[in-house]
Amino acid sequence: MRVLLVEDDQLLADALRLALSQAAHQVDVVDDGELADQALRDASYDLAVLDIGLPNMNGRDVLRRLRQRNAGTPVLVLSALERLEDRVELLNLGADDFLQKPFHLSELDARVKALLRRAHRHAKNEVELGRIRLDMDARRCFVDQVAVDLTAREFAVLELLLLRAGRVITRSQILDLLYGWEDNQATNTVEVLVYRLRKKLDFSGWDLKTIRGMGYLLEVHRGSIG
Ligand code: CA
Repeated sequence: MRVLLVEDDQLLADALRLALSQAAHQVDVVDDGELADQALRDASYDLAVLDIGLPNMNGRDVLRRLRQRNAGTPVLVLSALERLEDRVELLNLGADDFLQKPFHLSELDARVKALLRRAHRHAKNEVELGRIRLDMDARRCFVDQVAVDLTAREFAVLELLLLRAGRVITRSQILDLLYGWEDNQATNTVEVLVYRLRKKLDFSGWDLKTIRGMGYLLEVHRGSIG
């Protein structure tokens, strides 16, 4: 991934550049707000790591301008700001996450990974859980990269279950979801749908459990995912 690092503290910038490079990112470093603004206009970055106190233009203005251009580049703000109001202001300006100085490099690494994962999923409009992946645009389901043949109804129910994995989905929530589908409801009761989904996801590492009197729950199959 291509990362823009904006930090005017030379020692910190060197350490961050090294850490990001070791995580296999391609890193451009600038030490001034105007240069950062220019770099974000000129190139497409997967992530910006942005200090706030910068020469020539502060990080707030760099962020404000970026969002005014309607750019969705994820921004991780590095800041010594401890006041809640300052952090709220930055979130309102469009920051995606914060690291409060001083921080540990392992925390930077974790937050960068989380932001890139989130941005990637968002861009691709996918939900991935264990070995199951749903492509919401194409309305397709994959287990270990292998396409699983689902009807539109089965896809919709699985989507609901995946988005709320670990929580019980009631029968009436599923009925609400299916309401309005035109063909014969009688042959497509919730029970039949669940039965079919269960068979199709047999080897996915997930169990579709019936919780008596409550509904259904998608849960990791015991022992199948570490
Ligand atoms: Ca600074």
